[in-house]
Amino acid sequence: MNQALDQLAALLRHRRVVALTGAGCSTESGIPDYRGATGERRRKGHPLQYAEFVGSSENRQRYWARSMIGWPRFARARPNPAHRGLAQMESRGKLTGVITQNVDGLHQRAGSRRVVELHGNLEYVQCLSCEQTEARDALQARMEATNRQWLSAHRDSATTELADGDAELDPERCDYRSFTVVDCQSCGGLLKPSVTFFGENIPREIREQASAMIDGAQALLVVGSSLAVGSSYRLLRQAARRQIPLGLINNGQPRGVELFDVNAQGLAGHLLPELLERL
Ligand code: NAD
Repeated sequence: MNQALDQLAALLRHRRVVALTGAGCSTESGIPDYRGATGERRRKGHPLQYAEFVGSSENRQRYWARSMIGWPRFARARPNPAHRGLAQMESRGKLTGVITQNVDGLHQRAGSRRVVELHGNLEYVQCLSCEQTEARDALQARMEATNRQWLSAHRDSATTELADGDAELDPERCDYRSFTVVDCQSCGGLLKPSVTFFGENIPREIREQASAMIDGAQALLVVGSSLAVGSSYRLLRQAARRQIPLGLINNGQPRGVELFDVNAQGLAGHLLPELLERL
């Protein structure tokens, strides 16, 4: 492993490096990833699509009920050495920015300044009618106050904490129909977390910012991603087309693994601090 890290350091040293990160960067903070080392999705069944969220009040009841149970643990997650390593690389002038697929805000909490969030951030919700935003913590308080009985009946029914602040609830004990969804305080419109759902497009300005970052990079470092999601894989392909050096830190082989010049296998929270020492 030392050899791969030496090679990675040699690849990145004296270059304008951009990092592209995924769920693997945050697993050591206690937030599960989607796929794991095998590349297989951990959760079977089909993920909630944007159209299903806006088109069905039952789907919104289910989404927000599970989110209300899962949120406190997600919100307690703190940056780990992988986030801190990337933030230090930036502050020492060895990284120009981070493009992340994560929605947990942990790069910014660790001190990263230039961060493009490809899929948004769960710390906010947005009204689909008047576009007003509200902090997710404030919404949590409103949901809990509105659903006191539901909460006390279901607080302990989470069987698994899932990737995006969602929680798997015991189907035997759970009746989503009795959960009351909370609406926008200003106009009564539908609230949606400020993240890109499956079946929803990434806003154009975000895509352009990410693409410009890749165009300005002299090397790309991918950390903790399966690159299974099209938007991140396209950024890897863009970097490969520019023929800049490509480095990987990951536990498992991502899509496009053959494109990387150096592949350092292992946990990001261990490898990033070691890489930093070598730069
Ligand atoms: P993914 O789950 O598809 O892949 C994660 C990759 O990281 C896997 O290869 C896994 O083996 C590897 N990994 C796990 N722990 C690691 C560690 N400690 N060190 C190094 N590698 C590790 O994740 P993805 O590619 O980011 O795609 C998932 C999508 O789901 C994204 O679009 C993202 O928006 C969303 N998501 C976000 C979060 C979050 O915000 N923390 C968590 C899960 C999923």
